[in-house]
Amino acid sequence: MTNSASTSTSSPLSATGVLYVVATPIGNLADMVPRAVEALQTVALIAAEDTRHSSRLLAHFDIKTPAIAYHDHSDDQRTEHILQRLLSGEHVALISDAGTPLVSDPGYRLVREARQAGIQVVPIPGACAMIAALSAAGLPSDRFAFEGFLPAKQTARCSVLQSLVNETRTLIFYEAPHRILETLRDIAQIFGAEREVVIARELTKTFETIRGGPVAEITDWVAGDSNQQRGEIVLLIRGASAPTASDMNAEAERVMRVLLEDLPIKQAASLGAKLTGLKKNFLYQWALDNAKKT
Ligand code: SAM
Repeated sequence: MTNSASTSTSSPLSATGVLYVVATPIGNLADMVPRAVEALQTVALIAAEDTRHSSRLLAHFDIKTPAIAYHDHSDDQRTEHILQRLLSGEHVALISDAGTPLVSDPGYRLVREARQAGIQVVPIPGACAMIAALSAAGLPSDRFAFEGFLPAKQTARCSVLQSLVNETRTLIFYEAPHRILETLRDIAQIFGAEREVVIARELTKTFETIRGGPVAEITDWVAGDSNQQRGEIVLLIRGASAPTASDMNAEAERVMRVLLEDLPIKQAASLGAKLTGLKKNFLYQWALDNAKKT
């Protein structure tokens, strides 16, 4: 790949090479974008998460560029080797096993160090499981939070889920198939049986399945069909509804009235938010409207 404006992977002329961050398909090889093929065919070196895994993709697209393994735990020497080749003017492409590098995948350290060394980093966008899932889930997509993988151990997982229970943005997770059922049960327990979830499984592949509904219903469906506990899964949770006056339940009201006996409104709202899980601004407004009416 030349470092000129005539190619789609253009960059200003410079003595150093370019680090291309190249997305690859998440299942369906037809999702490989032409610009990615061109980049991988023409760079001097491919830094791959797992060279054996990527060999099928590279062979399919007749890419003969030498590949070396790179992951974020690679030793300094490996990172240094890649940086030196970039600094000497060679172009390098970074790929992961599937999808977009750095998204729950290696690459952060290399990209960061390359940028710090003044090397140009150029993304070649393409497949990304969480974006594909979001685009088809039918959940609000104007604001979302990608949380990567939940912890494998139940206590840690529940504590992460608990910390997200009032999050109003759509939540997106990657989840292992052998854990999906227990994770759904934890979600039902913590978010309530009615919270809407969507499972996006095997995207772009033969058995692609996207299904959403109240978490209790989806849990039963997954429990009753072992096929749903196989393959690759993106799990989405509808964000919490923004609190309205009707969320001012009896317990939250009791807490606020006690706090307001001794604290100014601002502090009562702040402490009340921690105790009830309701929004500070909402409690502040409630206190302004109701504090004096007993
Ligand atoms: N970097 C990748 C990306 O851009 O999506 C994600 C890598 S992460 C190590 C792998 C996880 O992504 C899987 O465990 C699964 O949760 C999700 N994933 C990858 N491919 C998928 C697919 N075809 N369908 C559903 N989820 C997928």
